Amino acid sequence: MFNSILDTPVEFIKGVGPSRADVLKKDLGLFTYRDMLSHYPFRYIDRTKYYKINQINLDSQYIQIIGRIVSKTLVGEKRTKRIIAVFKDETGLMELVWFQSLKWVEENIMVGAAYVAFGKPALFNNTFSISHPEMELYQSKVAGRGNQTLQPVYNSTEKLKKFNLDSKGLQRLIAGLLDQVIPQTDENLPAYILKKYQLPDKRTALLNIHFPKNQTDLNAAERRLKFEELFYIQLQLLHNKQLRQLKFKGVSFDKVGEKVNRFYSEFLPFELTNAQKRVIKEIRIDTQRGIQMNRLVQGDVGSGKTAVALMSMLLANDNGYQACMMAPTEILARQHYASITDLVSDDLVRVAILTGNTKKKERTILHQQLENGEIDILIGTHALIEDKVQFKNLGLVVIDEQHRFGVEQRAKLWRKNVIPPHILVMTATPIPRTLAMTLYGDLDVSQIDELPAGRKPIETRHLFEGQRLRMFGFMKQEIAKGRQVYIVYPLIKESEKLDLLHLEAGIEQLSYQFPRPDYQISIVHGKMPNADKQFEMQQFIDGKSQIMVATTVIEVGVNVPNASVMVIENAERFGLSQLHQLRGRVGRGAEQSFCILMSSNKLSKEGKIRLETMVRTNNGFEISEIDLQLRGPGDITGTQQSGVLDLKLADLAKDQAILSEARNTVISIFETDVKLEKPEHAILKAHLQRLERGISFDKIS
Ligand code: ADP
Ligand code: MG
Repeated sequence: MFNSILDTPVEFIKGVGPSRADVLKKDLGLFTYRDMLSHYPFRYIDRTKYYKINQINLDSQYIQIIGRIVSKTLVGEKRTKRIIAVFKDETGLMELVWFQSLKWVEENIMVGAAYVAFGKPALFNNTFSISHPEMELYQSKVAGRGNQTLQPVYNSTEKLKKFNLDSKGLQRLIAGLLDQVIPQTDENLPAYILKKYQLPDKRTALLNIHFPKNQTDLNAAERRLKFEELFYIQLQLLHNKQLRQLKFKGVSFDKVGEKVNRFYSEFLPFELTNAQKRVIKEIRIDTQRGIQMNRLVQGDVGSGKTAVALMSMLLANDNGYQACMMAPTEILARQHYASITDLVSDDLVRVAILTGNTKKKERTILHQQLENGEIDILIGTHALIEDKVQFKNLGLVVIDEQHRFGVEQRAKLWRKNVIPPHILVMTATPIPRTLAMTLYGDLDVSQIDELPAGRKPIETRHLFEGQRLRMFGFMKQEIAKGRQVYIVYPLIKESEKLDLLHLEAGIEQLSYQFPRPDYQISIVHGKMPNADKQFEMQQFIDGKSQIMVATTVIEVGVNVPNASVMVIENAERFGLSQLHQLRGRVGRGAEQSFCILMSSNKLSKEGKIRLETMVRTNNGFEISEIDLQLRGPGDITGTQQSGVLDLKLADLAKDQAILSEARNTVISIFETDVKLEKPEHAILKAHLQRLERGISFDKIS
């Protein structure tokens, strides 16, 4: 078998028996030789560099110094008993201290001899000292010995340390393992790729990531292994895409018919932006190729994704297929239903809605109508996925707000027709390029990167608690002009009780500042019964209330063009993308809109960057890049998809260049060799098969 020695369980490593193996598995998730070898050091100690005593400062890390022992004294009693040696070089004096192994120190550390002392200095009584230094007799000739390199430091745990597997212990294991398996480790990247990107071979890279001789070797090893890691993710993603395209035909939308044409000329109340036109064209091309479309449409809040979705659904209808649109929440589904039924009339298309709250009786009728094709467009929530929901002829699925739907759910929708329907995923969360390439690497991506003309950019201000009255004053001023205001409070699970208290206190203060009957306040939060929520929301939509106090339930989708002010309380507690989403609730009408970020005076460094970013820019893509730098990829996407992002070495925030190289390489491989049949690609095929365990290339044909 390919590389089978690497699949050997860790208990077979020399020096690891069953009990150590157990801890390695439990604590570090290391099961096989392969896992062990990819337990990479998290940092390195530079043993190639020597320091002079006068170069030591308070920031000094682990360093080594060449010097001579001037004196050696036993001091203290019992538990404070220690040996202090004075250590000297041509620049000054320092101390070396031992609390343990005193006998050994007495016998082995020689006054007058030259040593290399290694350790982390600390300052005591104005003198730098190292406690328990590693000591080595200095021999000027022998410069290149084992220790004089970058020394790896490994993650370990308390429990592992009890089993003598601290960083040093792990280092010994890995060193032994490398000796054993390196000769049997096969290259898994074609030579021409290594050459093109000047990457070291696999064996060299593995050796050098653990035991680099110098920084240059280490950098090269890191680059190679990051490339390999990202390359294989891309290979898998794009391979899946190939498989899908070869295996599944797609329904073909050959013509633009009456529905699209009539909608465009009679119903559409505005001119499409160029970006909308471009994306619709991309979808049009995609859906007539006879291959299933899997396209992600990214567009900032307000960029007009609904119109694009609707026109795509009408295109499906024109070709004799039904379409459905799935939203993550009931409120959003209703909003879509409302805006779409607003845009079209019954004689153009028959639109229906299905959610978890649809009454059984209605549901039965709906199921019937879907099955006999009386409904053209179905809008709804997760309820759409249920097996009971069957279509006559589903041709297109639009999924709004993709990041809340897993891959599994996407797959479920495919099965709603013999030929899987085209899939159009819409997200208002701009995703950094590197994340999109990784999370959605198997999708085609369209961007609506232009807002409809005439929109005024939202003005954003950051105010501190002390400026609250100013904020109320501003609200009054806007309300006097006939506008409406959102006020959003955080409601975060971990601190829910306290948050609810804040919300209550906030509402009390508001009702004092904005008394009835002059003002009406709507309140919506996650803990309320659905019916109440709907009612309160409707009050606001109908303009019967001027202020809507909410927790994040309004995060996505609510469309009230007359609302021109978004106040976010405790703004420092929201993530950047959430803030951006919330801000997108205003600026939907013709009026100048405002976003006011309220925060306490105490801001973390990160919190400060977030708020500053919001004030500075309205560009969702720019914001998402900063979000990625601040939080890392896992948090941005939520946990459900983090599997894909479980990277050992590469960092999507920092390694954009390597990722692009890796992806481009994979794309060009598939351009000329879809089935990886060229001899130079045999290793790719073999390695891919191992990764995918069982998905065989033969299934392509
Ligand atoms: P998104 O879903 O991308 O956040 P919507 O589709 O809800 O945005 O559109 C936001 C608002 O902009 C809606 O009121 C919509 O009618 C309007 N709109 C969409 N496209 C255009 C356009 N090309 N010109 C003018 N207004 C538009
Ligand atoms: Mg939308």
